[in-house]
Amino acid sequence: MNAIVHPIAGSRWRPSALILASFALHAAALAAVVVEPDAWTWAIAAIVANHALLTAAGLWPRSKLLGPNLTRLPPAAAARGEVALTFDDGPDPELTPRVLDLLEAHGVRATFFCIAEKAARHPELAREIVRRGHAVENHSNRHQHTFAFLMLGGLRRDLCASQATITALTGRAPRFFRPPMGFRNPLLDPVLHEMGLALVSWTRRGFDTYWGDPDDVAMLLARGLAAGDILLLHDSHAAPTPDGKPVVLEVLPRLLDAIRRQGLKPVTLPQAIDS
Ligand SMILES: [Zn+2]
Repeated sequence: MNAIVHPIAGSRWRPSALILASFALHAAALAAVVVEPDAWTWAIAAIVANHALLTAAGLWPRSKLLGPNLTRLPPAAAARGEVALTFDDGPDPELTPRVLDLLEAHGVRATFFCIAEKAARHPELAREIVRRGHAVENHSNRHQHTFAFLMLGGLRRDLCASQATITALTGRAPRFFRPPMGFRNPLLDPVLHEMGLALVSWTRRGFDTYWGDPDDVAMLLARGLAAGDILLLHDSHAAPTPDGKPVVLEVLPRLLDAIRRQGLKPVTLPQAIDS
């Protein structure tokens, strides 16, 4: 197992370079004000600028400035020609079974980043995802839009509850976490590390909850398709196509065809990391 991809619970948390620099900047600003009180405007300006940078890093889902973040599969998985399809925001009683049927028809396994409370409302569906050979991972307890504002206690409560719910439902503890909308703050990384969870974002996404044109969504996902890609789709809240169908159901067969034509192999995230 790759220790960078999947932190080992109990090992020491190591802050990213940006977080270390931020600690140093705060200390330097304090020291400057102690030595030269007139420097306080500069010290405050430097701290405000630093917090703006940390906030921007947290609002950039693929950023690695706040800590490790899987945006592609590890090199060994890419060398095997593997790609990972990931579906967020389910399980959904209407859409998830149809996505599962499409995946099964193509003999493909994927990763479902489930919302824990939704999984608890549809326990059979959560178990069915696993029964068909897919991975269920953690996409927070309730997908609250204020997730990125949670402090340490709130993050721990959310992740403990969601891990417990999904583990009880599926019999397997998630190893990967994707925050709602990919947004987070600098406190998430140490909490993920404590819990042995790895942050996963994506290589490319299709915006399939916003755009209903299957051509556009398929193009966004398949443009530059390459071994090692992590692709983000949704099995809930799908945008409708012009004729009223959930766009993901139109896009998925095309995407799977493109993956097969390129000789790539879809795998779950645990498969890609463990092989
Ligand atoms: Zn989501």
